[in-house]
Amino acid sequence: MKYAQVLVNIKGLGIKTFSYIIPEELKDLIKIGQVVSVPFGRQGLVKAFVVGFSDYLQEGIKAKKIKEILNEKPLFTLKYLKLLEWVANYYCTDIVNVINLAIPVKLIDKNSKTEYSVEYIKSDGATKRQTDILNKLKEIGKTSLISFEKDAKTTRATMKKLADIGCVKITEEAVYRNPLTIFKDNPTEPLSELSGEQKEAYEGIKKKLKSPNPILLHGVTASGKTEVYFKLIQDVLNEGKNVLFLAPEIALASQLTQRIAKKFGINEVAIWHSSISDGEKYDVWQRLYNNEIRILAGARSAVFAPLQNIGLIIIDEEHESAYKQTNPAPRYDAKTVAQKLAQFHKAPLLLGSATPDVSTYYYALNNNNLFEMPHRFNNSPMAKIEIVNMQEYSRAAYRGAISKQLQTAINETLENGQQVIILINRRGFSTSTQCKACGEVIQCPNCAIPLIWHAGEKLLKCHYCGHTEPLPDVCPKCGSDALRNSGLGSQKVELLLRELYPDVNIERIDSDVLTRKNTHIEILNRFQKHETDILIGTQMIAKGLDNPNVTLVGVISADSTFNLPDFRSAERGFQLLTQVAGRAGRGEYTGRVLFQTYNPDFYVLESAKKQDYQKFYETEIKSRQEFVYPPFTQIIRVILSCDNNDRAEKSIEEIGNRLQELIDQYGFDEHLEMLGPSSCVIEKINGFYRYQILLKNKIHAKGHKFISRFFKTIKLPKDIRMAIDVDPIDIL
Ligand code: ADP
Ligand code: ZN
Ligand code: ZN
Repeated sequence: MKYAQVLVNIKGLGIKTFSYIIPEELKDLIKIGQVVSVPFGRQGLVKAFVVGFSDYLQEGIKAKKIKEILNEKPLFTLKYLKLLEWVANYYCTDIVNVINLAIPVKLIDKNSKTEYSVEYIKSDGATKRQTDILNKLKEIGKTSLISFEKDAKTTRATMKKLADIGCVKITEEAVYRNPLTIFKDNPTEPLSELSGEQKEAYEGIKKKLKSPNPILLHGVTASGKTEVYFKLIQDVLNEGKNVLFLAPEIALASQLTQRIAKKFGINEVAIWHSSISDGEKYDVWQRLYNNEIRILAGARSAVFAPLQNIGLIIIDEEHESAYKQTNPAPRYDAKTVAQKLAQFHKAPLLLGSATPDVSTYYYALNNNNLFEMPHRFNNSPMAKIEIVNMQEYSRAAYRGAISKQLQTAINETLENGQQVIILINRRGFSTSTQCKACGEVIQCPNCAIPLIWHAGEKLLKCHYCGHTEPLPDVCPKCGSDALRNSGLGSQKVELLLRELYPDVNIERIDSDVLTRKNTHIEILNRFQKHETDILIGTQMIAKGLDNPNVTLVGVISADSTFNLPDFRSAERGFQLLTQVAGRAGRGEYTGRVLFQTYNPDFYVLESAKKQDYQKFYETEIKSRQEFVYPPFTQIIRVILSCDNNDRAEKSIEEIGNRLQELIDQYGFDEHLEMLGPSSCVIEKINGFYRYQILLKNKIHAKGHKFISRFFKTIKLPKDIRMAIDVDPIDIL
């Protein structure tokens, strides 16, 4: 090999790859994953990562020589790089985008310096002032030299002198920052004894650990899935292997890490998500690479952390859409990447949920990899669900938003000293502002969606681009003064409830009230401590909340959870309704749930009412098959957008024509189907007109390869943006 490809992180340019000549003396030493130093233009020597080798250079390129290898021990393996390559390929994006996401910049940063650590040896021969410093160091133990100098208000010169006389030892090595040290004093708890149902699931899963396909643990809320995971984790650790554990959000990942740390101790546990600092990422990376970490917990990006020797991957709440990154590229799904990662390590992938993704369930069922836990751990009954038919209420009556049944239920619950959760799936005051004279709906000038009235700020707001404007006095189209707010948003529901219950403590939680960082936690804490009686919220109240005193959950407009024009809308609705119902009756009292709806016979509601996942699944999977949606096909979505409508439309038509011609030419027939081009359901966002092509690929790798090759050949003018979304989570 004559040349090495290296990654460089250049200010303003980001991470890019370049080719360099490998000097003769480095030929036997150089390895993928090493850090080298290379000359780079006017910047002089910079740090770079070795990511590949070749015998040839692209034409017209004049390569310089690599200067030296900075650390002989590589920071990632070829296998790791192969995973990133696979992701780039599968999601039709450049590997540089994947590397940017996966590898902390600090690892490739040309500015990062060597770090030193210092430790106490002895105090003999030190002066009085030096002894004070030494005592402090003795107390702290081994630590980072820089931070100790700051702490002890001393200088490098003093520390060097102490090292010279043998009182301290300075070594060139980083002292790890552990983002978990806040849990340091937690005692380690033994694992729980599994219940009969849990044991059965555990033993069943044990027999499937060699399966190359994902294993699904479908257990109702509070069935104790986590306890089953823990038992499996312990087995894997005993075999000397490591565990990757993903949760859908940072908050849930942190909670989970605490639970793990309590059971397994913190020393070999680490957390990874987009919000830990660069320094912490850098440190966790080193420890992962040195195989010092046994359990890594985190949100979706943790799937890219270089955990070694993986023996098990667990993805909890696997149905959550947060596992998919929608923007920017790579538009990856951590579940799909985890499956590939598991294959690389010949390790099992275990998925868990109370409301599994329909495709996950389909595959698990057909591969015989499905395990069910239909009861709660302590056998506490599931909540009782009632459907309230809102057709019986006059729409005109303002209070019709909150039915008599719901009011009675709230009264009873409050009288019993218990608490209430009200789900309203839309923020803002209403869902649109409409002229009753001519029917005009006030729309965002930048986006093709209605503006939403926000009563607190007295503004019309766009939930897509953030545009705001005052409410006009008269209809902009016909001049009538009959502008009305229609539909229900969380603010209106709050107002109605405050009118109905003036003496009750009511709070609302949705993204509009989350102005400060901790508002969310404060509101939830007040609710947990029963300083609030009724908590109103959008879908963010459906997850994680575990308050045993909540015995009533009311869903104001159950229809709004499943009436979007999208193939996964029914699934989303079922999941949301089931999850929010799971908030009621977690303690000693049985819970009660009311779904208000204008569609009482819809199958999603019927199966949600019976908390019958199988029944929902059977209906849903039939419709997926009939209309050919996942899991019966792969969907690849291509969106083109431009601030000029005609140009966007013309471009997508050209692409569509060429693509259809090729599809016909190759004889793919109905195995690779193109839908569109058409405008997106949301035709315009932020001033950009949006068009899409949907590809239904039923021939797996072959179709995928064809599509990704085709789009690689597309060259577009600068003002037209193209986004390719493989396995999109919605098609709006
Ligand atoms: P899930 O993950 O299925 O929602 P959890 O694992 O969080 O459920 O369990 C719900 C509650 O029941 C937790 O407080 C958990 O500690 C408790 N629990 C579950 N299984 C056991 C067990 N085998 N022994 C003791 N407590 C358990
Ligand atoms: Zn009008
Ligand atoms: Zn807008």
